[in-house]
Amino acid sequence: MNGERRVAGLLCSEVLEKLGDFIDGTLGPSERAAVEAHLAGCSVCEQFGGSVAASVGALRRQRLARAEDGASVDKVIARLQSALLTKITT
Ligand SMILES: [Zn+2]
Repeated sequence: MNGERRVAGLLCSEVLEKLGDFIDGTLGPSERAAVEAHLAGCSVCEQFGGSVAASVGALRRQRLARAEDGASVDKVIARLQSALLTKITT
């Protein structure tokens, strides 16, 4: 199913683009809220599932606590993004 959705004013692909900044905490408050609302309300992103939101939340805490660990965090982000991209495009 080709199921990219617009939720909370954002497309899944736009959420993907922002995910890194979201985790880094460099998004503005309104963008951050939109990403959170999308992850919470999008059935596509939710399918795999709450795990995206949960992973992202864990990564954010991890990155805030251990900024030097950025490389491994980036790897996890890349994996999430490619998984979600596959979901959207197939
Ligand atoms: Zn989505």
